[in-house]
Amino acid sequence: MNKASKPAYRRILLKLSGESLLGSLPYGIDVITADSIARDIKDIQDLGVQVAIMIGGGNIFRGVRGTEAGMDRASADYMGLLATIMNAIALQDALERAGCICRHISAIDVKSVAEPFIPRRVVRHLEKGRIVIFSAGLGSPYFTTDTASALRALEIQADVIFKATKVDGAYSADPMKDKSAKKFTTISHEEVLQKGLQVMDTTAFTLCRENKMPIVIFSLKKKGQMKKAVLGERVGTTIS
Ligand code: UDP
Repeated sequence: MNKASKPAYRRILLKLSGESLLGSLPYGIDVITADSIARDIKDIQDLGVQVAIMIGGGNIFRGVRGTEAGMDRASADYMGLLATIMNAIALQDALERAGCICRHISAIDVKSVAEPFIPRRVVRHLEKGRIVIFSAGLGSPYFTTDTASALRALEIQADVIFKATKVDGAYSADPMKDKSAKKFTTISHEEVLQKGLQVMDTTAFTLCRENKMPIVIFSLKKKGQMKKAVLGERVGTTIS
């Protein structure tokens, strides 16, 4: 293996928002987009990197949408959790069609489609070269899949969290609204706090900061970004 193809990480946790599966749809799962993401993931796995994925559910349902309409928060959040399970099934299907071996681990008991979370078993899957998809966040309401990503990344001793977002990094302001927004290529956890940058929800970010978990923020829309990031090239924003 030459130097350029040697991965910079041994084990990563990739956080995919539910929206990443939308493609150009207003709602739901675009199978062609799922296939394209699956190919990107296969590319990095082929480099020898162990890949665990936490999938969100915002393309189908977010708890906050239900509470805004008057629902009980916990009931709405459980619906959000179920949305992530549907996304995980779609992503597993896409990954298997791309030629990957893949295990779906749900934090809510759904025996017919997913295994329970047993940390040592998950690590074994990863060591054997299987891709692991985590669904149902932490299995409890009032959390987000960002917080679940941070916790699972720590539990499985991932080297880094890769957070795929709509924008290609962390900016000084919302680049969609403010044309003068400046992108940070590298920044520390402390600076993110000082500058009040919104990269993850507070609970998730605090877990990462306290445990020195690096985070790479990048966009999946730009092809090949994830592979570059895995190879240690500067992509998006690295928080460390
Ligand atoms: N959720 C939850 N507990 C968790 C993770 C997620 O209750 O541990 C619910 C919550 O309602 C959330 C929804 O699942 O809105 C979908 O997750 P999230 O919004 O994090 O998905 P994303 O924005 O990444 O698509």
